[in-house]
Amino acid sequence: MRLEIRDVSFFYESTPILADVTFSVGEGEFLGVMGPNGSGKTTLLRCMCKVLEPGVGAILIDGRDLKKFSRSEVAKSVGVVPQGPMVDAAFSVFEIVLMGRTSHIDRFGAESSKDLEAVEEAMKVTDTLHLADRTFDELSGGERQRVIIARALAQEPKVLLLDEPTVHLDIKYQLEVLGLIERLNKRTGIVIVAVFHDLNLASQHCDSIILLHNGRIEAIGPPEQVLTPESIRRIYG
Ligand code: ADP
Repeated sequence: MRLEIRDVSFFYESTPILADVTFSVGEGEFLGVMGPNGSGKTTLLRCMCKVLEPGVGAILIDGRDLKKFSRSEVAKSVGVVPQGPMVDAAFSVFEIVLMGRTSHIDRFGAESSKDLEAVEEAMKVTDTLHLADRTFDELSGGERQRVIIARALAQEPKVLLLDEPTVHLDIKYQLEVLGLIERLNKRTGIVIVAVFHDLNLASQHCDSIILLHNGRIEAIGPPEQVLTPESIRRIYG
């Protein structure tokens, strides 16, 4: 499994937001995307799940151009944990996680035993099975985040994209959520690409880090090589 970003540039109107972005992530790797506000992190994540299409360059999953993926093929390959997901609070946890199977279920069909197994497995690894009948608004911040991760995992994706997965969480839940992501990554080999603001959390959990600045990659590599006092001063002022 390999996710490749090749010479990607993205423009809103004529304003360049990403420029010549190139990197790749392989099975079992946990990549952090960092950079100041407005540096293009969310735009990059949106390109990687085809919500946005880059004007220049290509994004490849196992060598196949994302441009050629149908919506449902994208959903089966890439799971997304967005920032502040829109979830109808009246749905039960089970129903929310089952929504992750939408791309696998025929339009007018019912869920199969395979769908229910995938939901159960996603809930098991995120430790949310015991919350199945609760509604979203009854959950703590950490539990909500685990449910949204379970929904993404129910898709059985090869790549999991997370936009600031620990923002708004207390330190206890930050560690809980990051511990979960790290275990998944190492146990199943799922590729993780996560946007982080917190330099400490990112350096503790990521195998490598991309530092974006004005839409360009300023540095890429292991945290200790990328997050140096010099680079932090230069990029974050
Ligand atoms: P980050 O996630 O690093 O904060 P973003 O990817 O959200 O950065 O934004 C990068 C740049 O793109 C910012 O300058 C932002 O103002 C601009 N931008 C984001 N969304 C839009 C949009 N829909 N239309 C025009 N410009 C946008």
